[in-house]
Amino acid sequence: MNIAMLLDMAVAGDPDRVAIGSRRSGTTCAELRRTAAGVAGVVHRAGARELVFAGVNGPVFPLLLFGAALAGVPLVPVNYRLSAEALTGLLQHTEKPLVVADEPFAEVFTAAGLDVRTPEELLAEGRAAEPAEGLEGSADDPAVLLFTSGTTAAPKAAVLRHRHLTSYVLQTVEFGSADPDDTVLACVPPYHVAGVGSVLSNLYAGRRMVHLGTFEAGAWLELVRAEGVTSAMVVPTMLARVVEHLAGRPAEVPTLRALAYGGARMPRTVLEAALRAFPGTGFTNAYGLTETSSTIALLGPDDHRAALSSDNPSVRARLGSAGRMVPGVEAQIRDAAGAAMPTGVPGELWVRGPQVSGEYKGAAALLDADGWFHTRDLAHFDDEGYLFIAGRADDTIIRGGENIAPAEVEDVLLRHAAVREVAVVGVPDEEWGERIAAFVVTHEGSAVDAESLRGWVRGHLRGSKTPDVVVFRDELPYTPTGKLLRRELLTTIRKG
Ligand code: AMP
Repeated sequence: MNIAMLLDMAVAGDPDRVAIGSRRSGTTCAELRRTAAGVAGVVHRAGARELVFAGVNGPVFPLLLFGAALAGVPLVPVNYRLSAEALTGLLQHTEKPLVVADEPFAEVFTAAGLDVRTPEELLAEGRAAEPAEGLEGSADDPAVLLFTSGTTAAPKAAVLRHRHLTSYVLQTVEFGSADPDDTVLACVPPYHVAGVGSVLSNLYAGRRMVHLGTFEAGAWLELVRAEGVTSAMVVPTMLARVVEHLAGRPAEVPTLRALAYGGARMPRTVLEAALRAFPGTGFTNAYGLTETSSTIALLGPDDHRAALSSDNPSVRARLGSAGRMVPGVEAQIRDAAGAAMPTGVPGELWVRGPQVSGEYKGAAALLDADGWFHTRDLAHFDDEGYLFIAGRADDTIIRGGENIAPAEVEDVLLRHAAVREVAVVGVPDEEWGERIAAFVVTHEGSAVDAESLRGWVRGHLRGSKTPDVVVFRDELPYTPTGKLLRRELLTTIRKG
């Protein structure tokens, strides 16, 4: 199945339903289909083999996603915040691209001698163009190429084929299940897999989409109120900003029934503050990777409520879990050598299922002989199948032969009243192999010294997990999708 079929189903379900934008003047499903076919015509006539998009999330993104699908080429959304040098580097991995770039980002592509249009130009052309039909390829063709987050050095493009994305939607979303007034606020960037997943699943469910191109907490809350938004998805850094913006006040967003978060670990303190600020909203934690076509495990609103109200410590602990695997995705915990481990024992998470791609452009598929994909996340399951993610295996600190997951130390530090944000990393050390460094951002107006924070960790964890150094910072480096750039911190400590 091609993702364009999801659009065709939406059109067949209700062609006049507003799919994107304001209730009065937004784009209907039928208009979306018609313009996407026009965009496909432009792409086809340009002889492009890929459609590259460098722009903020907005109404043009669904058009490009389906336009590319109808033209039989993959959409390649790129991170517009990258430096000109990094963007030019990514372009070397693309093939005969037609580039659609927001005005401020267009220059770097034009300078590289590429065929560039602004979204407005493309839309005008697409609306006037002869629609292209019958060009969409098979389920096995690439639908989207996504460059991985950029927390590692070399860019790699994950290949998501039509069958991966449609399997994800068909397994996790019920067709037309949204109420007529349901509205989703999209604010995750288009180059993140959650941005792609959100277009497909909301269109398929029948939910109107409204967009916030550049995230800002106050603007996000205002848009939720102004558009009567009923559901939204945020990355943890966005939720942290919203909670901070509210400063203890309730969010006052009576329409917002569902708030999903994911893309990186959610600090417990932020989640607890958010649950207090949004008392009428059901929370969902969505865990997934680019290579798994987005969500593979979910902790739903009922799980959140059960965890909050339980006296049982193992049920309460589930508030820090990623919930249970979604239908169609199998999971295994293996040790570092790849041998399966019994339930409850921590190890590395491997997953398998029709939405799991595990493939990078220009490289052999990374699945093992039985189709399993190594997520490289440290994880364990409790006895009822709740998945706990302890971070990336690559981030593990090995201090004097002992493996330490930074997340465990971070969680303890975040429970200290003065600590707002924290990152724990391993610093190379001749004696210990690695030493533990904690980078800390404190709450405004709170004073705490390194020694008291070290004492706090020593009081809660084994002595060997106490940070050797505590470095105070005004802010920590994150990607726009909420991922902590640990390597960047490491560079700063090495420099001085
Ligand atoms: P990416 O492919 O760039 O989206 O990164 C995927 C990685 O983000 C996963 O392997 C996890 O380490 C992390 N991640 C994503 N969602 C969650 C979540 N809900 N909880 C904890 N970690 C997450």
